[in-house]
Amino acid sequence: MPAIDVPSLAADVLAGRRAAFSRAITLVESSRSDHRAQARELLAELTPHAGGSVRVGISGVPGVGKSTFIEALGAHLVEQGKRVGVLAVDPSSVRTGGSVLGDKTRMSTLAVSPQAYIRPSPSAGTLGGVARATSQAMTVLEAAGHDVVLVETVGVGQSEITVAGMVDTFLFLTIARTGDQLQGIKKGILEIADVLCVNKADGERAQEAEATAKELAGALRLVHAGTQGWVPPVVTASALESVGIDRVWNRVIRHREFLGSRGLQEKRATQQLEFTWALVRDELDQRLRTDERVARVRAEVREAVLAGEMPAATAADLILAAYDGREDLPGT
Ligand code: GDP
Repeated sequence: MPAIDVPSLAADVLAGRRAAFSRAITLVESSRSDHRAQARELLAELTPHAGGSVRVGISGVPGVGKSTFIEALGAHLVEQGKRVGVLAVDPSSVRTGGSVLGDKTRMSTLAVSPQAYIRPSPSAGTLGGVARATSQAMTVLEAAGHDVVLVETVGVGQSEITVAGMVDTFLFLTIARTGDQLQGIKKGILEIADVLCVNKADGERAQEAEATAKELAGALRLVHAGTQGWVPPVVTASALESVGIDRVWNRVIRHREFLGSRGLQEKRATQQLEFTWALVRDELDQRLRTDERVARVRAEVREAVLAGEMPAATAADLILAAYDGREDLPGT
């Protein structure tokens, strides 16, 4: 990346120039320390202009139809004159360095719309790093005037929780399943989803999808029984045939209305506080990994623990003492 003039980049982002916000996202994704400093400067300029989009997380296991759905929803929103950004949080990109999510070839129609911007998942080393980059990319897209930001993630592990922590509404996609398979949907998902959609409700599977939606709705009423809160609605759709997409979007909007502007503000504020601590944890983890003093005891600790000669708690104390630079290493 050539030298960056942050104020002029910020001005170009605010003017909604695609090349500028694309470059700005590359900057916030960078882990180089000089880039990090410039990214902070840029974000300080952009943040007062951010916050204006509808932030929606979209999750589901591979093959459920996420990219087809985002393509259909994106087209629907673009038709309404909205500018749409698509980001992705892909935990596997951390390992492989490549990313399937937010892939333009998977959303080929949306990708060529001047009203839409699709960005694949950053591969920023750790889930925390990816989350930081994605959350900051969202700020950039909002400052550039996007009305809706969709954050795609896969239905595995921690990444759903991470994405739920950066969006206003979390949409969970599933497909028709039998009762037994429904048990397999993680209870955690039913707790974080704000809207559920049974996709592929077309052809022979339409009825099955309706039945699944009913069953899921019943399960959700149980999970949320006795609360005054939002009970996540379950709808069916066919992303492939673009049927029911407006219904899903309508539920997203209703969820926002339920939160109200005050509720939304509080939700986002709480998310920022949690995100702050997540960033701190991630940074500490990173320091622990790269600390030289820790590196010096690592091999010794590893051997002792693997040989069953040192209890884990003692080993952990030893590592922390090394990290803190304490002389009084336990057991020495
Ligand atoms: P992702 O891995 O969750 O992003 O899923 P994709 O969007 O790549 O879709 C996986 C497969 O399911 C593709 O072959 C799609 O054409 C198909 N698919 C997606 N949505 C629908 C739908 O609504 N109905 C049907 N019949 N197939 C769909």
